Amino acid sequence: MKKHIVVIAGDGIGQEVTAVGQQVLDAIAAKYNHEFTYDTALIGHAAIEATGNPIPEETITKSKASDAILFGAVGHPKYDNDPSAKVRPEQGLLGIRKALGLYANLRPIKLFDELLSASSIRPEILKGADILFFRELTGDVYFGERGRKDEGNTAYDTMIYSRYEVERIAIKAFDAAMTRRKKLCSVDKANVLESSRLWREVIQEIAHRYPEVEVEHQFVDAAAMLLIKDPKRFDVVVTGNLFGDILTDEASQIAGSMGMLASASIGDTTGLYEPIHGSAHDITGKGVANPLASVLSVALMLDISFGMKAEADAVVNAVDSVLKAGFRTRDIADPSTPAEKILGTEQMGAQILQRLNA
Ligand code: NAD
Repeated sequence: MKKHIVVIAGDGIGQEVTAVGQQVLDAIAAKYNHEFTYDTALIGHAAIEATGNPIPEETITKSKASDAILFGAVGHPKYDNDPSAKVRPEQGLLGIRKALGLYANLRPIKLFDELLSASSIRPEILKGADILFFRELTGDVYFGERGRKDEGNTAYDTMIYSRYEVERIAIKAFDAAMTRRKKLCSVDKANVLESSRLWREVIQEIAHRYPEVEVEHQFVDAAAMLLIKDPKRFDVVVTGNLFGDILTDEASQIAGSMGMLASASIGDTTGLYEPIHGSAHDITGKGVANPLASVLSVALMLDISFGMKAEADAVVNAVDSVLKAGFRTRDIADPSTPAEKILGTEQMGAQILQRLNA
């Protein structure tokens, strides 16, 4: 199969981990006789430095013309300490999601058995947890009307959802539930918020089309508690932009480290695949970043955008095998297990490639 991929490595460790992700794509192309071609594009701080714009038009044009996007991260400490800066790296990510109509963010949360001890949650609670989050990406307080009044002393952000926005992500989430354990949990705050009442109403309507799927509704506060208390009770979780932002970071602790979690942002055309972590400037340039989230993002791309299930499984199995062999990056190392071998970013990538090339 021929596929054209745009690589947008972005800022900080985005550059380091995405290089490994691209090597994994090359190894898969060679092993399974595919032809992957690449283009690169700028975003975030790197794009601001080069063009003054966090999301140059050329990046959007190239992305739209591609079959999938392999993304790194955006962000720079300069902006983190200056909340008033008008031009910011994260506008690049929000901009590309909007330009490509990426309305659903998928985050699989699954703990590799070898990392049970790296999590802050007790192994007996975690073992067997396997959750697929669907976070809505284009609505909510992130895009509602906002402003200040009373001479700047009162500020407001509007939580807003339209029926079609809930419908389209609900359909994707129900479809996914049908391929898994046929359980769907919708998270809202319908006891307080009108936008959540619309959200729940639409989920209930769509549920009629999927009689085999067992549906439950949880308020976001209860869901936050249940995720830690009993993560195994969840299969597919669907929620809005703000609640999803918070709950998926909470759930990342189930997987032991931010460095292990991949995500897919999809709409009706080109999908974007990225680690959930940021640009991590505290470790940039040190060669210690965990590249496995980028590697697992490649697995999601192969599966979701290209329909290459066997190829995706080969990548996940390579990660599993490397962990079973005791190789770890610093962030997932367990100090109480001296048999582990601590590797840097490139060395970890080399272990994955060795298994894919075998
Ligand atoms: P972060 O995810 O960059 O880092 C959080 C912590 O996790 C840091 O201690 C970091 O060293 C560690 N970490 C993250 N990824 C790792 C990896 N692959 N291997 C080993 N350790 C890893 O979050 P932050 O520090 O809150 O934000 C840093 C910058 O990234 C900010 O500018 C923020 O705006 C941006 N950010 C971008 C995205 C994105 O591009 N999608 C997401 C979150 C944050």
